[in-house]
Amino acid sequence: MKHFTLEHAPQDALAHERIAVIGYGNLGRAFALNLRDAGVPRLVVGNIDDDYRVAACADGMTVRSIADAVRGSDLAVLLLPDEVLPEVFPVEIGPHLRAGASVVFASGYNLAYGLTNPGKALDILMLAPRMGGETLRERFVQQKGFNAFISVEQDVTGKAWTRLLGLAHAVGALRNGCFELSARQEADLDLFIEQTLGAVIGFAVMNAFAVGVENGLPPEALALEMYMSGEMETVWRGFRTTGFRESATVHGPTAMYGGLMRTMQFFGTGLADRFQDIFKEIQAGQFAEMFQAEREAGYPTLRKAAQMNAYLDVIADAEAKLRRLRSEG
Ligand code: NDP
Repeated sequence: MKHFTLEHAPQDALAHERIAVIGYGNLGRAFALNLRDAGVPRLVVGNIDDDYRVAACADGMTVRSIADAVRGSDLAVLLLPDEVLPEVFPVEIGPHLRAGASVVFASGYNLAYGLTNPGKALDILMLAPRMGGETLRERFVQQKGFNAFISVEQDVTGKAWTRLLGLAHAVGALRNGCFELSARQEADLDLFIEQTLGAVIGFAVMNAFAVGVENGLPPEALALEMYMSGEMETVWRGFRTTGFRESATVHGPTAMYGGLMRTMQFFGTGLADRFQDIFKEIQAGQFAEMFQAEREAGYPTLRKAAQMNAYLDVIADAEAKLRRLRSEG
């Protein structure tokens, strides 16, 4: 993968560009604050009339309607929820952008599955951070930066890379390194890991909790063991700092033997085949279709999620008790 760092930052790339940050949610606010603090001179926020707009005004941003913010901008950074963009883009964004402007997506989702088509007159860029807005902002303030996948999907102006790297620099992504990845690959990767690794971790926590409680273990002890003590975080830190293979050796023979033996048993359950099926469904756009239908129906599955596991309330109680005990201690 091509890697971009501070040495690839173009000089004054955004000095004369008007940047519209569309959406002031999790990522929108962090991006706008970072751009402001990086000294980007012509910054405007586009948002509907809601609490996020109030927040943007309170932060001292120049706030306009989405269409007004987009009109006359050189770069429109689209920070609306992925599944919302297909409705908003053709009405509030696309028609108001002038030819030769750049649209920047923060994930590959809309481009990969053909949900939003910006047409042939715009630069199409992707700057997809690998973390959420709050951490991204915190790391910018600490001058640490964050990783992102970037790509130029269409360059009609000849300035697409300069604009993209200028933007990546201003929001802080070049400080920690950007990697080139196509929108298609970013979307497949993001969804694949969320729906395999993410799903398995969530499933394991809920089921270990349920089985542990049913067998008489105190809920607080289970929460402490699984994540409240912070021990599990050291496992992931070990993957990052020492390496996945090496870090496995620091947990002692009991944990190694037990973990390895059970992992081998899980291999026999068809989990790896299920991962293959999931990748194929994502790549074929089936997941995106399902998710857009979920939005159109008013998110019935997401609303039901809280009732998915009867133990979620027990888990929340155990966490609250632990927090109280710790603050009293
Ligand atoms: P949020 O849900 O936090 O914020 C979205 C913004 O869009 C809010 O201002 C929201 O206002 C507005 N919005 C929602 N619906 C509409 C609508 N129908 N019309 C107009 N405005 C609307 O989104 P995120 O910041 O989480 O995500 C933005 C992008 O960043 C996505 O592409 C996502 O994939 C990407 N991303 C997000 C990361 C994260 O951790 N959050 C990490 C990396 C990338 P309101 O709700 O009041 O309508």
